[in-house]
Amino acid sequence: APKIIGLTGGIGSGKTTVAKFIEEFGFPVYYSDDRAKDIVNDNDALKGKIIELLGNEAYENGVYNRKFVAEKVFNNKDLLQSLNEIIHPAVRIDFEEWVKRQTKYLVFKETALLFELQLNRQCYQSVLVTAEDNIRAKRVMDRDRKTYREVEAVMEKQMPEKDKIKLADYVIYNNTNLEDLKEQTEKIIFSIE
Ligand code: ATP
Repeated sequence: APKIIGLTGGIGSGKTTVAKFIEEFGFPVYYSDDRAKDIVNDNDALKGKIIELLGNEAYENGVYNRKFVAEKVFNNKDLLQSLNEIIHPAVRIDFEEWVKRQTKYLVFKETALLFELQLNRQCYQSVLVTAEDNIRAKRVMDRDRKTYREVEAVMEKQMPEKDKIKLADYVIYNNTNLEDLKEQTEKIIFSIE
């Protein structure tokens, strides 16, 4: 079985960019959040449970209504937890099936919540992508046309960077340019054995 490396980072840290570099270097990446988005639309049993929890508006013409769901759970911890308890096991199963199909000695699992959900326990090692808050905020503002306040509100809900740095086996500091980011990524992935 391949070794599973967890890849994580807070909002705007650059973890998706790093994941793309990893794929360029020839290693497969499982994108947990993207897969979760597909699963909530494809898995009928899951659909039923989500509607039971959040109401019919969770789906609009059969398609998962992310905006509605996000707004509904944003300030409701219990509801968010219930939703996660529905979605996460399905993603875990999907991931396990995906791993079985891989042939490389290393595979990467990209997830924003690696440490929050203690998914690092199921990984051989973990890689954290981090950057200064103001740099992350600016990148997300440019990417998503969000205000500083909106990005800050998300950052405040995430695990502090200093805590994640302590938990990670490898840390990529993404405060400069993409060339530097790619170089750090390359060094790390080829040093894992
Ligand atoms: P999120 O969790 O919000 O989806 P993320 O951690 O996946 O974010 P990315 O989407 O990879 O982060 O990066 C955020 C934005 O910043 C993207 O638009 C990306 O192109 C840009 N970016 C990332 N790293 C750099 C860098 N070193 N220099 C310039 N732009 C960067």
